[in-house]
Amino acid sequence: MESKKDGAVYPELLSISAVYDTNGDAVNYVAIAKDITSVKQNERTINQLSFYDSLTCLPNRKMVLEHVEEILTKRKTPSTNAPKAHKSQLFGAILFIDLDNFKNINDTKGHPIGDLFLQQVAVRLSECMEDRSMVARFGGDEFIVVLTPSNLEKIQAKHEENIIHKIQSALSSPITLNEESFDVSSSIGFAEIDHITHTAADVFKNAELAMYEAKAAGRSQICYYSVRMQEKLLSKMNLELALRDAITNDEFELYYQPQFDRLGNIQGVEALIRWFHPTQGLISPMQFIPLAEESKLIISIGDWVIRTACLQLKKWQTSSNLQHATISVNVSALQFSQDDFVTSVEAILREIDVPPKQLQIELTESMLVADKEIIAHKMGELKQLGIQFSLDDFGTGYSSLSYLQKLPFDQLKIDQSFVRGLSSHDEDSSLAFAIAAMGSSLGLEVIAEGVETQAQLDLLKQCGCDLFQGYFLGYPVPVSELENRFSQRDR
Ligand SMILES: [Mg+2]
Repeated sequence: MESKKDGAVYPELLSISAVYDTNGDAVNYVAIAKDITSVKQNERTINQLSFYDSLTCLPNRKMVLEHVEEILTKRKTPSTNAPKAHKSQLFGAILFIDLDNFKNINDTKGHPIGDLFLQQVAVRLSECMEDRSMVARFGGDEFIVVLTPSNLEKIQAKHEENIIHKIQSALSSPITLNEESFDVSSSIGFAEIDHITHTAADVFKNAELAMYEAKAAGRSQICYYSVRMQEKLLSKMNLELALRDAITNDEFELYYQPQFDRLGNIQGVEALIRWFHPTQGLISPMQFIPLAEESKLIISIGDWVIRTACLQLKKWQTSSNLQHATISVNVSALQFSQDDFVTSVEAILREIDVPPKQLQIELTESMLVADKEIIAHKMGELKQLGIQFSLDDFGTGYSSLSYLQKLPFDQLKIDQSFVRGLSSHDEDSSLAFAIAAMGSSLGLEVIAEGVETQAQLDLLKQCGCDLFQGYFLGYPVPVSELENRFSQRDR
């Protein structure tokens, strides 16, 4: 450092060279001094850009990762006079904070408001920091807080003023922007840095996993990473791997649940998939369908369902009892949204050669919220082929009735939640009555599912429903059982 004439201090780069005479002796020295203020300034800017987030001025992902790496390195090489690390000793922990409602703010209010919101969250989090704790912006609406051993001591001692309490209360009051107030809700995952932690990436992965558990637990929650959580993830991954091979290993089977008309004649069946895992036995669709959706395996599984249902229809063409039965298949949003959905269904129908009108596709009300034009267009094309459509789970979504009217549905399926309480509450029967009346006036066939008692069946008949499905009338059964039942003459 040097001083200028006005007393200002500036960094200087000084290089000194010796000047020699003919004998090789040094006679003079030349010093060249250079003011490197701008070089230092550039270094600071570069440092700021690569280690800090430009929006919130908080440390960025790179810096917080390095910070945790440093904690891990220090843990491995304790100073000689430091007490020996105890097995249960914690070297720190991280909080993985994800804002629950940020996407909504960005989508509805625009990015400039979203940016201001993030800046305010950053300020609030920074105000909670203690001694050597660090808050960083990890990306998007994700923040990381690195806790020190002393933070952890306070948390373990349930100290009133511990950093987690501070963060939770800082993020519990609304943020006001442009005179509008926005709720801040966040899901927090917690993971410790202990003697078995291998890498910084592990700690972040564990904390993120805990954060997803917190989200699944209903948001505004904090979850602590545990080995059990890791095991759950592992078994989910194994199940997904097994699911990948389930089609080729022929582990799926379609069960069929009969649907009856008002006179008690079978009119059709709903095809319901069952998975027989080689070692775990029957796995509930409630367990594997969400996994299939997540992994996009639902596309090939859905394809298998349609193909298998069509092969069944083909076999029934020569049956005296099931010749005219329709088969309803549940099609997921992801499968339906595939560009080649129409052509693949058309190819299956042509290849197997079955009357398309006996194939019915069930779409759920919740699917109809997205891409209305595309859905209408696709349904129209499939309708042209002769395929029927049923609107599943009706009454549980929020579809616009005028919009529904424009879609070529043939059937409306009253959700079982309306049927369940039917015998005990007048309100439910008036809802079922209203839905049935509306369906009929729109020219749709109305089917009630989840019929479990004679009383419900009687009431649904009074409501004017055309078709009935439920345990009272028949469980979903393997095809052989269904065929046996309907080949008996006394039915
Ligand atoms: Mg269904």
